[in-house]
Amino acid sequence: MAGREDEKERMFRFLRDTSFLKTEKVEKAMRKVDREFFVPESEKGFAYYDTAIPVGYGQTISAPTVVAFMLEALDLREGMRVLEVGAGSGYNCALLSVLVGQKGRVLSVERVPELAKLAKANIASAGISMNNIEIMVGDGSGGYPPGAPYDRIAVTAALPSLDLGHPLIAQLKKDGKLLAPVGSYVQDLVLFEKKNGKMSRILPVMFVPLIGKYGFREE
Ligand code: SAH
Repeated sequence: MAGREDEKERMFRFLRDTSFLKTEKVEKAMRKVDREFFVPESEKGFAYYDTAIPVGYGQTISAPTVVAFMLEALDLREGMRVLEVGAGSGYNCALLSVLVGQKGRVLSVERVPELAKLAKANIASAGISMNNIEIMVGDGSGGYPPGAPYDRIAVTAALPSLDLGHPLIAQLKKDGKLLAPVGSYVQDLVLFEKKNGKMSRILPVMFVPLIGKYGFREE
C-alpha cells in the first residue's frame, strides 16, 4: 500500500512534470507547508491528490496545481507585503508567508469568521509562524485600504469583473501585481501588472465566488 509520504512525492513529481511547479523556492515552500494540516480529518487521505477539497461553509481549498501556479505567477520575494482575499483553510496564506519571509507581511481578509479561526488554527498546527501574518474578518472584495500599498494581491475567490477602476488596483504599489480569478462559473485567472498596465488571462480555473460589495451578491 502506498503510504502518504509516497503520495506526497508523487504529487511533487506531477507538479514538476506538468510545469505547474517551476522554481525551487515555491517547491521548498510547498514542502514546508504540509497540505495535510489544512484539510478536514475525513479528507486527510486526499491531501496529496490534485483536487480541491471542501473545508466547510461551502468553501474549498484549491487543488495543488492551482496553488503552485498562482504562487509561481505572483513571483514573490523576501520582504514583500502581500494582501490575500479569502483565507479559507489558511493553506495559501501560510505559503505566501513562507515565501515573503519574516521581513515580509501577509494580510489576509476572510468573510466567514469561523474560517478565519480555522485558518489560524491550521497554520499553527502546521508549525508555521504567525509572526508575519494577520488574518482579518471582513469583506475583502474591495481590498484592505488601511494596509495598502501592497507588492502583491492574491484573490482566491472569483471576482465578477476586473477593470482599472477596481479599488484593488489602487492598493497596488506602482510595480505591484494582482492575481485573481475573474468571471462567472468558469473563470480566467487574470494577472495584472501595474507597471505596464497589462492584464493577461493565464489559465481557466474554477473558484468559489467572492461575495461582497465588489463581488457577487449573497444568495
Ligand atoms: N485560499 C484558500 C481558499 C480560498 S476559498 C485556501 O488556501 O484554502 C475562498 C475563500 O474566500 C472562502 O474562504 C470564502 O469564505 C472567502 N471569501 C468569499 N468572499 C469573500 C470576501 N468578499 N472577502 C473575504 N473573503 C471572501
